[in-house]
Amino acid sequence: MNNNRVFNFSAGPSMLPLSVIDDAAANLANYEGCGQSVMEMSHRSKEFGKIIEDAEANLRELMNIPENYKVLFLQGGGTLQFAMVPLNLLRNSKKADYVVTGSWAKKAYQEACKYGDIRVIASSEEDTFAYIPKFSKEDIRPDADYVYVCYNNTIYGTHYNAIPDTGDIPLVADMSSCILSEEIDVSRFGLIFAGAQKNVGPAGMTIVIIREDLIGFADEKVPTYLDYKIHADKDSMYNTPPCFAIYIAGEVFKLIKNTGGVAAMHKADVEKANKLYAYIDESQLYKCPVAKEDRSLMNVVFVTGDTDLDKKFVAEAKAEGMVNLNGHRTVGGMRASIYNAMPMEGVDKLIEFMKKFEAENK
Ligand SMILES: *Cc1c(COP(=O)(O)O)cnc(C)c1O
Repeated sequence: MNNNRVFNFSAGPSMLPLSVIDDAAANLANYEGCGQSVMEMSHRSKEFGKIIEDAEANLRELMNIPENYKVLFLQGGGTLQFAMVPLNLLRNSKKADYVVTGSWAKKAYQEACKYGDIRVIASSEEDTFAYIPKFSKEDIRPDADYVYVCYNNTIYGTHYNAIPDTGDIPLVADMSSCILSEEIDVSRFGLIFAGAQKNVGPAGMTIVIIREDLIGFADEKVPTYLDYKIHADKDSMYNTPPCFAIYIAGEVFKLIKNTGGVAAMHKADVEKANKLYAYIDESQLYKCPVAKEDRSLMNVVFVTGDTDLDKKFVAEAKAEGMVNLNGHRTVGGMRASIYNAMPMEGVDKLIEFMKKFEAENK
């Protein structure tokens, strides 16, 4: 069973651990003997109550989330957070400072501009987002309500190698494509969010981790669903949550917990990424355009410098069972997304293919 699966290098939705999929399949029609599927059961049932409570407890343990933070499981993807963040966190001066490191950060910035006085304090757009721009505390407006960063830039393959220091001003981070790939000091952030479909589970569920003192500031005109307070007060059960997505994410959390936690994930992710970058750097054909110190562990971007050759690469890799290696439509080239669920075997197979392709296309 399942021995004809491909290695999916997509930036998202992306691979899930096969053991989680097989286990979910075994429980699909009759979840743990309760006589129905998680897709059918009431979100108020005892069974689902345990699923969502365990998911939250395990995520809290994995990320070492402090007591004074709420964990919310919402809908609307990472994208809805581009609006929810300003609608809830522009609570005093209505000013916020953004760091623009790629398309997702830029979209978040543009969305926030609808709601307040938003400024870009650093950007790497002039260099096609090939590095993480530096900024210091002095660049932040002292009365800013928050500072916003995208921690891992899925499209351009960059990642913060240290948490920016914003002093007392809450730091908001989009971790959609790197959550659970590294140990993070959550207490350094005011809010962290992540859409599930990159590194956690199926699309449809978004994780929000928010410090309690930042909850409760949405204007009364803000739609009820977009107020963090309603979800915090109702333990993510204000309305029907995305039950099946939460269930699968919960199974992924259990698996990570049982295989050494986030530290073990990180170690494996570093090994995979280092191997791939090392090969790219020594090869004559491929180049990684990203500044070395800012390279992402999750999204490895590379090019041959020849658009037609890039296309040939993607097509031939696909024929060998390695799919979705094309770069984002805005940047071209190739991108290998190697999230937690991508085994080393997939990276080894990719490197073998890259060597063969290089030899054949000198
Ligand atoms: C994919 C992605 C998003 C958008 O996620 P959706 O769930 O499709 O809305 C936002 N930010 C980052 C960093 C992403 O990788």
